[in-house]
Amino acid sequence: MHFDGPAGGASGSLRVLLAEDNQLNQAFLLCFLQNEGHCAALARDGREALELLARERFDLVLMDVQMPGIDGLEATRRIREGAVQNVPADIPIVALTAYAMPGDKERFLAAGMDGYISKPVSLTALQAEMARVLAERGAPGGTPPAVDIRSLVSECVYSDELVAQLFAAFAEEGRSCLVQLDTAGGDPSRLARIAHSLANSAGAIRAGRLLAAARDLEHAAKSGEPDLDAHVGRLAALLKDAIAYAVSWRA
Ligand code: MN
Repeated sequence: MHFDGPAGGASGSLRVLLAEDNQLNQAFLLCFLQNEGHCAALARDGREALELLARERFDLVLMDVQMPGIDGLEATRRIREGAVQNVPADIPIVALTAYAMPGDKERFLAAGMDGYISKPVSLTALQAEMARVLAERGAPGGTPPAVDIRSLVSECVYSDELVAQLFAAFAEEGRSCLVQLDTAGGDPSRLARIAHSLANSAGAIRAGRLLAAARDLEHAAKSGEPDLDAHVGRLAALLKDAIAYAVSWRA
């Protein structure tokens, strides 16, 4: 397991470890996490989860309670006790549970879990619980991602291949635009042309903030604003974010 993407938080994308032994839940939750723009890794039981956590940095763990060998409660207790080397004892953990027995919530929280979601998992509920737990920790998760990946994936009729093609083309054009912005020397008509073309591409990959900044620069350049440097700087920064998002998507 290896991640090349930018650190979680910078793009709103999180590194999530899914510890789950059920194959259907694995497929469903991994697909959900990836479509949300997160980097997800899978552990099939508690032992594998502890091993992966010791090797890679994660922002959050989705921890199934019932797993063979070391179950979710035991794995969580070991992490909280600081008994697992290289694993931060305070890593946010959300329990996944098929139980709905009275007293369960108290049992999970006593084991050190930050929150829990019952199965079958509702994606809206899971999203809300992840956001709640991270917000309580003051952890990253508040910054919206550079790309509205859910909307893009849905527009691409859920074809990963198409999304990957769009991102590859965007990254190539984006890099060329960065150079052009740099060499335009503040020339308004050149900047307006670059911004116009960039606005089109930003719209195509659902990069909302980049689109707004490109329109902003185009408008400023056409309306004869004397100093375009601030607009150009902002656009270049957002463009770099979007390129980073595009190249790290499912990398
Ligand atoms: Mn299970």
